[in-house]
Amino acid sequence: MTSLAASEGSAIDILIVGAGPAGLTAALYLARYRRKVRVLHDGRSRALWVPRSRNIPGFPDGIVGADLIARMSDHATRYGAEIFEASVNAIAPRQNEEGFRAHLADGATIDARGLILATGVDTNLARLDSGDHDAAVRNGVLRYCPICDGFEHGHERIAVLGSDLHGAAEAMFLRQYSSDVTLIPKWQVALTDRQRGELEASGVDVLEGRVLRLDATDEAMFVAVEGEAQPRRFDTLYPAFGSTPRGELAAMLAPLTDPNGCIPFSAFSDGLLPGVYAAGDVIEGLDQISVAIGQAAMAATRLHNWLREQDGHVMADQK
Ligand SMILES: Cc1cc2nc3c(=O)[nH]c(=O)nc-3n(C[C@H](O)[C@H](O)[C@H](O)COP(=O)(O)OP(=O)(O)OC[C@H]3O[C@@H](n4cnc5c(N)ncnc54)[C@H](O)[C@@H]3O)c2cc1C
Repeated sequence: MTSLAASEGSAIDILIVGAGPAGLTAALYLARYRRKVRVLHDGRSRALWVPRSRNIPGFPDGIVGADLIARMSDHATRYGAEIFEASVNAIAPRQNEEGFRAHLADGATIDARGLILATGVDTNLARLDSGDHDAAVRNGVLRYCPICDGFEHGHERIAVLGSDLHGAAEAMFLRQYSSDVTLIPKWQVALTDRQRGELEASGVDVLEGRVLRLDATDEAMFVAVEGEAQPRRFDTLYPAFGSTPRGELAAMLAPLTDPNGCIPFSAFSDGLLPGVYAAGDVIEGLDQISVAIGQAAMAATRLHNWLREQDGHVMADQK
């Protein structure tokens, strides 16, 4: 395998930042368009956390996230994509020349004609007082994505942590699966009387006391609530703390991220700038593997066609 240092300076067509489902799909498509494509990632794909996903079409028995990433990496490299672990600190248009220059954490630089940003988001995590956080995620007692795995918790005792509108919406969503859903405030209930009434009417129990302790075992989560003598036991707990988009690189190129740091939805189809596309969770919208894959296929194809256009390889009427 070529090392990143050895390949530094060699001309590439497209640099992809991110080796999650979005970046790896874009790499596969571009490699199959016979583009010289390089993927850089800092090892933090959220897909690596997925204990077993059961909503990816074609995997009815589910697939472990790390296995999916390994398969997708093999698939892209088989067609010629190069994948390296490296952290990208900055990206800027090249001065007086076409394309972009990426600055890596180790001081190296990489130039490319086009860019795909597939940098994802960071999940805002719950802090446990005892028990191992990552083991709790693997065991399915601590969950972060009701859309992904609510189905697996039908008829169980479910808690949602965080009584703001986001938490309330997650709790209501989970009522589709279980009649035993409790919304617990992290600090205090931040809901109007009307919102609380709606939750009550849909059968969600809203607690008043804030959380004092969170403890995970292999089988359950225990939540100690202010004013209660015994911790409550739940089969699974969903912290509803949202996520933080990794939009810094996009923001360096264009002032286009929204106040939350998300890239606009059109970035996978229309691009952010000429020669720059984005795909996956970093884009505002539904954070799902299938969505990331679809957006990346579109971004890769649009970028490939844009390069063909730059090189005069499309018919004038096609433009
Ligand atoms: C616990 C959990 C369970 C989930 N279960 C499911 C499920 O069952 N089904 C489903 O569809 N979705 C699930 N998801 C969501 C799914 O993981 C994401 O939607 C998916 O990973 C998004 O892919 P992505 O490529 O956009 O981002 P990611 O997979 O997060 O990849 C982002 C990539 O960008 C890289 N990166 C970012 N910034 C830099 C930088 N500056 N330099 C270098 N590299 C950088 C990271 O290293 C990483 O490789 C789950 C998420 C979690 C947390």
